[in-house]
Amino acid sequence: MPLPQFSGERHEGPPSGRRALFPKATDREWNDWTWQLRNAATSLETLLKFSGPISSDEEARLARVIEKFPAIIPPYYLSIINFSNPQDPVRMQAFPSLDEIDYNVYGIPDPLEEEEDMAVAGLIHRYPDRVLMQLTNMCPMNCRHCTRKREWEEGKWSRTDGEIDAMVDYLHRTPQVRDVLISGGDPLILSTPKIEKILAKLRAIRHIEIIRFGTRFPVVLPQRIDDELCAMLKKYRPIWINTHFNHPQEVTPEARAACDRIICSGIPMNNQTVLMRSVNDSTQIIMKLCHELVKIGVRPYYLYQCDMVKGTEHFQTPVWKGLEIIEGLRGHTTGFAVPQFVIDAPGGGGKIPLSPNYLLFAGTNYLTLRNYEGLIFKYETSNNENASGVISFPDSASLVPNQKSGRIARREKRHENHDHFQSQKKGSRQRDLTRPS
Ligand code: SF4
Repeated sequence: MPLPQFSGERHEGPPSGRRALFPKATDREWNDWTWQLRNAATSLETLLKFSGPISSDEEARLARVIEKFPAIIPPYYLSIINFSNPQDPVRMQAFPSLDEIDYNVYGIPDPLEEEEDMAVAGLIHRYPDRVLMQLTNMCPMNCRHCTRKREWEEGKWSRTDGEIDAMVDYLHRTPQVRDVLISGGDPLILSTPKIEKILAKLRAIRHIEIIRFGTRFPVVLPQRIDDELCAMLKKYRPIWINTHFNHPQEVTPEARAACDRIICSGIPMNNQTVLMRSVNDSTQIIMKLCHELVKIGVRPYYLYQCDMVKGTEHFQTPVWKGLEIIEGLRGHTTGFAVPQFVIDAPGGGGKIPLSPNYLLFAGTNYLTLRNYEGLIFKYETSNNENASGVISFPDSASLVPNQKSGRIARREKRHENHDHFQSQKKGSRQRDLTRPS
């Protein structure tokens, strides 16, 4: 039985600006994701029509921002912005800001070194048993905090059939890969038949156990999650979908319906949130977001420190802010509603989890532990299993014995340049003191 389409009527969630902003759009158009893409706001003129006038000097500078980092905002996402609030958290993720070129001291275009870990064009093989497949650089929206912002300057592209076959061929030859993540740009921007063709090729590889999609469509353009897409994906399970809600205001009835369609197709959903200054950098906002997510069946998975990407410095928060938020969640709400706080290490080091410290001391026969209320407990152990007060770290070669590779050599070289990196950061931090919080 087909699931109901969005009628434009809302019974909960933030008020929609659809009727005010797009009074002529019919329900048929509004529910058609290709209409939404065709009518996305991209030009300076259109953006100013929504956000209001600015001085001619600011207008000239904003033109420079979108020349470097183009804007794309679909009508649906525009409709959930509160335009009376200049600091609206949804607006800040979508609208270009002068800060993108004004605060631009230490970001780098590709901090995660994805380009250097490409096994073949579009296939990043960084971790032993899993790969990232990048099929396109197109997205339904250009999120201003995007890690792959560098690719916006390249114009729009999708991988050719030949390039996709080369990726598939590499996967056939690489039996240790059991997990393929298809990610952004946003892979669901491709047509459903095209996605199916790729899934069929991947499913023909016996050692590929799971396929994951990274997509922001459920958040920024939930109309894309239609019956045809869900029925197709269902055939290729086990599939997992990771999406990207950053603020409770994004959990609208439309987004909830889209997630419901996915989950009812037997596809579990996780969420990855990026921590951003003035958007969601408080325990209350992240707790509310996590509660809204578990209510719609989406598990809060990661809370990311915002990557050090050129053009996103104004979103950066101190690392301590993320730890403070996790401290405020752990024990204070449902365990699986607490995401893991991670830093994606610059230099291609991968995701590094950070947690508040609950282990205070390791004695010979006991541990000293702290609980979420700050109470201290002695936990006695039955033998001499603890090396008193000492924690040792294995060297990197023993962690990845078969991968003393170019990647590790590159990382080691970066360590030699560590002082230079630190001094860059210090300069930026000093300037931070003059910035509004
Ligand atoms: S949808 Fe994802 S990949 Fe695309 S611009 Fe947004 S954050 Fe970046």
